[in-house]
Amino acid sequence: MRRDDLFAEVARCFVIERRPHMQGYIDCHCHISARDFDRDIDEVIKNSQKAGLLALLAVAEHAGEFDRIIDLSQRFPGFIFPCLGVHPVQEVSPGQQRGAVLQDLDAALPLIERYRDHLVAIGEVGLDFTPRYVSGDAEKDNQRQVLIRQAQLAKGTGSPSKCPFTVCGEAHHPPPERTRGRKGFAPCL
Ligand SMILES: [Zn+2]
Repeated sequence: MRRDDLFAEVARCFVIERRPHMQGYIDCHCHISARDFDRDIDEVIKNSQKAGLLALLAVAEHAGEFDRIIDLSQRFPGFIFPCLGVHPVQEVSPGQQRGAVLQDLDAALPLIERYRDHLVAIGEVGLDFTPRYVSGDAEKDNQRQVLIRQAQLAKGTGSPSKCPFTVCGEAHHPPPERTRGRKGFAPCL
């Protein structure tokens, strides 16, 4: 599915059919569960709606955020749509980050499975080979494995248009050859 078609499909499924009189925007990649919004989330949502936002896709970076994202989607139904996934860069302590490994995904899988019927995408996913996060081929390969496993997960979670990826903005490296062009591979937002 082409990127434009995918946006049209998301709009048709989640917004336009419910509010055909409205026109506006969909934020397809938003870290609204960040602690920065704890104090004024209601105001942030109100202002974004006033500015013309019709819906937003809330993405996760790690399993520790999943419950909060689901809570937000229930608190703002029809406006915040949840995505769960493992970001290619994981924070191990404040200010210290490393590339994702399969153990990060193992910790996330039970929650993704629990909430799978509520998800609109697997994300945030991607590859980030920035040297300060990833220093060697083994670490790059760990990220690739995490991405591939999540691609398989997205494919098995629903139809491609129902459960695409939402990707890491820093993932400037191409996807692994093993996933590129594969029939039925989930599209990206
Ligand atoms: Zn992001």
